[in-house]
Amino acid sequence: MNRFDRDLSATLRQPSELVARGLAPESALADLERVAARYAIAVTPAVAALIEPGDPGDPIALQFIPSPRELETSPGENADPIGDQAFSPVPGIVHRYPDRVLFKLVQVCAVYCRFCFRREMVGPGKPNALSDDAYRAALDYIRANDGIWEVILTGGDPLMLSPRRLAEIMANLAGIDHVKVIRIHTRVPVADPERVSREMVAALKTEGATTWLAVHANHPREFSEPVRAACARLADAGIPLVSQSVLLRGVNDDAVTLEALMRTFVELRIKPYYLHHGDLAPGTAHLRTSIERGQELMRGLRGRLSGLCQPEYVLDIPGGHGKAPIGPNYLSHVDSGTVAETRYRVVDYCGETHLYPPPSP
Ligand code: SF4
Repeated sequence: MNRFDRDLSATLRQPSELVARGLAPESALADLERVAARYAIAVTPAVAALIEPGDPGDPIALQFIPSPRELETSPGENADPIGDQAFSPVPGIVHRYPDRVLFKLVQVCAVYCRFCFRREMVGPGKPNALSDDAYRAALDYIRANDGIWEVILTGGDPLMLSPRRLAEIMANLAGIDHVKVIRIHTRVPVADPERVSREMVAALKTEGATTWLAVHANHPREFSEPVRAACARLADAGIPLVSQSVLLRGVNDDAVTLEALMRTFVELRIKPYYLHHGDLAPGTAHLRTSIERGQELMRGLRGRLSGLCQPEYVLDIPGGHGKAPIGPNYLSHVDSGTVAETRYRVVDYCGETHLYPPPSP
């Protein structure tokens, strides 16, 4: 077993293992076996250590320990909630916007998040890597489309690949003249921080393109000392870091937790980037909030945190129509009858409204 597989061998993958560790109640075992037959389960030692056993409301447990409620599909939920398939010209590639593509190299992750928007496509039992031919065809597609400025490596989790393979892929992409930015989305710094070794960090940097890395985390308690050290190794190597979080009921849908999460990101040199509204993935309704609640929380953050700490609250429009910012609006028109008298009404961080004049005629 190589060092990159060592922690994964201790990963909890069966409901019976979760029960034995006190992370799920024995009374739920039969239901959890049914969940496991449909959706992958993986709880790494690093994540298991963050969970308070016996507390069903634990914000880390809610993200990774399966629930019988995952067997309930709600109206509007579907297997491809953000419409990847409709925009996939070749296997592994999603080309939704003109200047960038998603490149899905692997279908496996270190952990399986219970709210995952690609839960029907990731996990053991799914084809777990692109074939060599499919990989070459994906590279050919990127090479042939010279409007592609950014390639986003996403999941599954690209950091499940070995440093040697990642280095090859980074070099292949950077060798394409018009590819200037390679962005990597990963849960590994939280799920298996030791995997973010110096060797791995070196593999992420390449000549000819700039690497950015999006760290996925949803609760400040995810940042143990080893996780903080992993983030520091990335930042010290000069890799710009941004955050990606999902608004989750019972996990981070309160102002105090969200504030602490955003402050933690900034303290670790991770610029808060996106706070996603929960996607309509099957069996995830119990983890979604309302959009109104999300907007209320964003208004709260505006009053509590500097602009540096603000994420953008976004919704992936079902059907593959891309992301839309859905945060609260701070500006409205006041039309008192004539164009000359039209004013703007602006809301400040305390919720007070103020008038702002129209442009000079
Ligand atoms: S790491 Fe990402 S792709 Fe993997 S299960 Fe979690 S949300 Fe889904």
